[in-house]
Amino acid sequence: MKRLFVLLWTLVLAAGAAELTDAQIQSALNAAYAKYKDLNEGKNTDYIPALAKVDSKIYGIALVTSSGNVFTAGDVRSQVSIQSISKVFTMAKVMDEQGAEAIEKRIGVDPTGMRFNSIVAVEWAQKLMGGPEINPLMNPGAITATSMLAGDNRQEIWNGLLGCCSACAGRPLTVDKEVFDSESATNQRNQAIGYLMYAYEFIKKEPMWATDIYTEQCSVSVNAKDLAAMAGTLANGGKNPVTGKRVVKQENIPGILAVMAIAGLYDDSGKWLYHTGLPAKSGVGGGRIAVAPGKFGIAVVSPPLDAAGNSVRAQRAIADIANGLRASPYQVAPR
Ligand code: GLU
Repeated sequence: MKRLFVLLWTLVLAAGAAELTDAQIQSALNAAYAKYKDLNEGKNTDYIPALAKVDSKIYGIALVTSSGNVFTAGDVRSQVSIQSISKVFTMAKVMDEQGAEAIEKRIGVDPTGMRFNSIVAVEWAQKLMGGPEINPLMNPGAITATSMLAGDNRQEIWNGLLGCCSACAGRPLTVDKEVFDSESATNQRNQAIGYLMYAYEFIKKEPMWATDIYTEQCSVSVNAKDLAAMAGTLANGGKNPVTGKRVVKQENIPGILAVMAIAGLYDDSGKWLYHTGLPAKSGVGGGRIAVAPGKFGIAVVSPPLDAAGNSVRAQRAIADIANGLRASPYQVAPR
């Protein structure tokens, strides 16, 4: 009898160690929220003028588990523009439409180690590697990916992309017109990148359509909960865990997460992976997502950025929560 009791108790403890409880998750979010609430580092980006005006006090954390449970702390209603986080979902859509090799062959899946809007990275890959060894999460690769989306006209392409992002978020998303206009008026460098990729024939036609749609996709408004559901969809094999709707083909998820791991955080991707083990993506609007495969997607929104263009609070809060919940897929107990 005593033996049976010991065996049962051991099983209970083992299950407890593997499965996170709701209380553990909520208290990790609360602790990270409180720890960084008054942190006064970084500043809103201003190279897109409308982003300088966004309330820099917005700070919200959301986590969506693979079973569809939603946890939040702070302001998860205020919206910011999604910016570069959108690149993940454009890549996913192209892979769904054309297969994973389309991205690998046309753009590449390698880190560049250079700035997100580097032209040198394209020249370098072209001259030294003789091919497209960049990736769809930096601007030249992202604008090329946008040019690959299916659709007969701009509206059709746009509807498909916005529909994909909305299905991942679990609600209809909309564009922040002020951000879109502001970025459209100041995106000459991205236009140059569009033409460069056209000149090298990575973009096959209409480079200014691609740049314009890319600019619009960056202007989609999201809150922390939307972003967490989008990350949660990637964590759950491509099926939105809250709505139950399949959005991204399961077979493409490992490739998407791999590119996020090597290139999701600009030139700081390696450092982030070293400390958390989680594929992630940030945007200059102040959002950041990270994915614990099979466990949860997490997002933080907080506009002030560090010198590398990453939200200061977001990176610290997510790192604390991920490590506190032992989310790294590389952390395993020996058998
Ligand atoms: N729309 C921005 C750009 O192209 C996105 C940058 C970012 O979020 O990293 O400059």
